[in-house]
Amino acid sequence: MTEQGNAVHINVGEQDWRQRFGDAMMGSLAAPLAMLVRGEGAHVWDVDGKRYLDFLAGIAVNALGHAHPVLVDAVSSQVATLAHVSNYFASPPQLELAERLRRITGAGDRGRVFFCNSGTEAVEAAIKLARLNRGDGSRTRILSLVNSFHGRTMGSLSLTGKPAMREPFEPLLPGVEHIDSTVEALEAAIDDTVAAVFIEPIKGEAGVLDLPEGFLARARELTQEHGALLILDEIQTGVGRTGSWFAFQQSGIEPDALVLAKGIAGGVPIGALVTFGWASDLFTPGQHGSTFGGNPLATAAGNAVLGEIERAGLIENAAIIGTTLREIIASIDSPLVAEIRGQGALVGIGLSKPVAAEIATKAMELGLIVNATNDSSIRIAPPLIIGDAEFEEFRELFTKTLEAVS
Ligand SMILES: *Cc1c(COP(=O)(O)O)cnc(C)c1O
Repeated sequence: MTEQGNAVHINVGEQDWRQRFGDAMMGSLAAPLAMLVRGEGAHVWDVDGKRYLDFLAGIAVNALGHAHPVLVDAVSSQVATLAHVSNYFASPPQLELAERLRRITGAGDRGRVFFCNSGTEAVEAAIKLARLNRGDGSRTRILSLVNSFHGRTMGSLSLTGKPAMREPFEPLLPGVEHIDSTVEALEAAIDDTVAAVFIEPIKGEAGVLDLPEGFLARARELTQEHGALLILDEIQTGVGRTGSWFAFQQSGIEPDALVLAKGIAGGVPIGALVTFGWASDLFTPGQHGSTFGGNPLATAAGNAVLGEIERAGLIENAAIIGTTLREIIASIDSPLVAEIRGQGALVGIGLSKPVAAEIATKAMELGLIVNATNDSSIRIAPPLIIGDAEFEEFRELFTKTLEAVS
């Protein structure tokens, strides 16, 4: 597929694309695992025609899998109608998606939605929200958790609880403190000088780590008591993945704000900040914006994805996926599997040995994409559309993978 006079030659050899990647792409990215050219449902194909079962789904993004006709139709027809208008104008898909998010988050009539283009931008918006919760001026501290991930831009990086990611870019935002994910640490750190507490209900990038029992409920009590915003980062856990629209809905609490991205539009870039209650009154006109944020194209994609999740019962399916994958992994009975973490279709495997990279590489070789989030954790986040055929394929490939590595 070579386009004349243009460097779009896709059917190239392995050496060639690796070389081109190394030459042209910024050195901030690690070497890619493969060159993918096409996807359909839960499968992707590489440049050599090899097929993979995609159980990472673009890191919990491709909720409907690849090339889903509902998303293809929505994006195609919107781009042919009105793709972009800027913040000087409203558009029907934008309002529809904002209203839909108010409904499915439970924020209701007191909810407000800000659209942007990625997870890290949603976190940036939430940091600005936190700065507006000043109190008498002394409310300047922000708490986040050790081992958390909130993004890579300077504000969100300040919150990210991984020193190795932060250190090369210091000095970062002042006033941010990383605390352990324990009720005791939270109780010790919080007082009336805290503007906001940022929490991931499940720490996805850290290897799908669950919070201790009761932590979210206590965080809700303490933030309420001290006038701090409770801001949940559901960029990875949201949009049906954990078996409810949002993970917090299984904990019985309500946050003051929610940051969303990844799965919302099934691969079309989008992010959102959703506020609840009094937090909806903090921003005033002109205080934040984004050229692309909430454009008709991205929000039409969001409406299509969220509409299809609802129509096809994919939230219920996420719960079934979770139960089934956990059964399959447990039944393989490998000594490498020390624990199974996460909720619904966000599955973490804690390994008994630091062989996550070997497992991910072997799986790729066999035609299965899973993710090594660190030395001893495997993350699995399949599309929410999968069923028996994909479960069986996973069982076979992952069994072979674990046998080969142990
Ligand atoms: C992916 C992710 C982000 C960052 O989102 P980007 O779209 O990559 O900027 C932030 N928080 C969590 C929990 C994430 O999983």
